[in-house]
Amino acid sequence: MNYKSYQEIRADLESRRITVSQIVSHHLSIINDQNDRLNAFLEVFEQESLKQALLIDDKLRQGNAGRLAGLVLGIKDLFCFKDHVVTCSSKILEGFVSQITATAVQRLIDEDAIIIGRQNCDEFAMGSSNENSAFGVVKNGANSKKVPGGSSGGSAVAVQTNMCQISLGSDTGGSVRQPAAFCGIVGFKPTYSRISRYGLTAYSSSFDCVGILSKSVSDAELILEIIGGLDQNDSTSSTLEIPHFSLLPREQKKYKLAYFPEIIQSEGIDSSIVQMLNSTIDQLKDEGHTIEEVSFPYLEYLLPTYYILTSAEASANLSRFDGVRYGYRDQNISDLESMYKKSRTNGFGSEVLRRIMLGTFVLSSSYHDAFYTKAQKVRRRIKDYTEDVLSRYDFIVSPTTATVAFNIDTKTKDPIQMYLSDLFTVQASVAGIPAISIPAGLDANGMPMGLQIMSGKFEEQKLFNFCKEIEQNHFV
Ligand code: GLN
Repeated sequence: MNYKSYQEIRADLESRRITVSQIVSHHLSIINDQNDRLNAFLEVFEQESLKQALLIDDKLRQGNAGRLAGLVLGIKDLFCFKDHVVTCSSKILEGFVSQITATAVQRLIDEDAIIIGRQNCDEFAMGSSNENSAFGVVKNGANSKKVPGGSSGGSAVAVQTNMCQISLGSDTGGSVRQPAAFCGIVGFKPTYSRISRYGLTAYSSSFDCVGILSKSVSDAELILEIIGGLDQNDSTSSTLEIPHFSLLPREQKKYKLAYFPEIIQSEGIDSSIVQMLNSTIDQLKDEGHTIEEVSFPYLEYLLPTYYILTSAEASANLSRFDGVRYGYRDQNISDLESMYKKSRTNGFGSEVLRRIMLGTFVLSSSYHDAFYTKAQKVRRRIKDYTEDVLSRYDFIVSPTTATVAFNIDTKTKDPIQMYLSDLFTVQASVAGIPAISIPAGLDANGMPMGLQIMSGKFEEQKLFNFCKEIEQNHFV
C-alpha cells in the first residue's frame, strides 16, 4: 500500500477497495517498524488517528466526507496543534502544549485529513541536516549513515518511507526543498504570503513559508489549494484568490527557461549533479522548450544576505523564550538576570545560540548599517534581478543542492560548510518566489538528487503544470 497520490487513495476508498482505518493502520505499522531506527517522528498520535479513521469511514459511507478523507499526514514540530505538544525540537519548549491550531493544519483537518504525529526537525528550523534537534539526529531512509537534510528532515523521511502520505514542513531558506532532494520526494515552497503562517512558530518572519512534502506534484498542488489563501489571523497572508489548480485543464505549453552557468561552475558541486542538470537541459530542449544561459552575478552574496537577515529576525523572534511565561526555566538561579541568562543558555542548543548572537550583533547600533541595512539592500538587488529574469523567462532551473545527502557528523563542526548546503535554495527565499524540488533520479551510490524549478510570484499554477510534465517524462 504505497500510493503516489491522494487521487489514487480516493479512488480506492470510493470503490470500497480500502478503508481509512486500514490506511492509518498501515502507516502506523511502518512507523512502529522503522521509527526507532530513523527518528522521524517525535510523537505518534496512534489512538487519536485510529479513532478519527473510524469517524471518517462513517462519513465516506454516508457520502459526506471532506476532500481529503483518507489522507494521512505528519506535521513538523513547529506547527501548533491545539492540546498537543509543540517543542520546535528544542529543550526550551519541552512538554509545551499548544493553545491554538495553525491555520494550515486546521484547514486540512476541516477536509478530513488525519494528523498521525509530530515530526522531528532541526531546532527552531535552523539547520540543513537535522542534526540540530534536541531529540536526536534523523536518518535518511535511503541510507541510514546519511543525513536526511534539514530542517524538515523528519517530515521528509516520513514521506520517503511511507510513514505518512504527506508532511507539512516549513521553508525559510530551503528546509522543505533540500530534505526533499536528499530523500527523493517532492518539496514545495509557495510564494511568500500564499499560506498563512498563523500557528507556525516564527524563525524569520519575512522568509518563513509553510511548505509541503509529498510523493507527487499533484498532492502538493491539492494541498496548496486547500491550505492557501487569506487568513484573518495572519495580516501578511495574501488576498489573492487561490485558483482550483487541481480542476484546471493541463496545458501542453512550450516554456522558456533560464539557468545560471555560475551554479554549474560552483565549487564543490558533485559531478553527478552537473550531469543530471545537463541531461535535463538537453532533454527539455528536445521536447521543444527554449532554455538559455543567463548570468547570475549575485551567487556569492546569497548566503551572507540570507544568514544576516534571518539571524537578525531570529534574534528578535526568539526573545520570547526567556523562562518567564512558558518553557524551560533553569532552577539554579539567584536573580532575574541569572534566570534569563541560564534559562536561555541551557535551554537552546548551540546552533540557535550562534544565530541569536550573530543576529543581535548585526542589529546592534554600531553594526546595524554595516550589516543589517546593507543586507536589506542586497536582498532588494537580488529580488529585482530575479524578478527581471522571471519577467523574460517562465522558469529558472537548477539542481536543488550541490551534493547528495552527506554522512552524519561530517559538517556539524563547521557551520560555514553546513550553510553552503543552502546555496541554491536561498535565492527563492530571498526573492519570496515559489520553488519546488522534484526527484531527479539517483547518483551512482543510489542517493537521490533533486531538480529545482523557480517561477514568478503567484505563478504556482504554471509551475505545477510544468512540473507534472517533468515528473511524467523525465527520470523514469
Ligand atoms: N538551512 C537553512 C537555515 O538553517 C534553512 C532553514 C529553513 O529553511 N528553515 O537557516
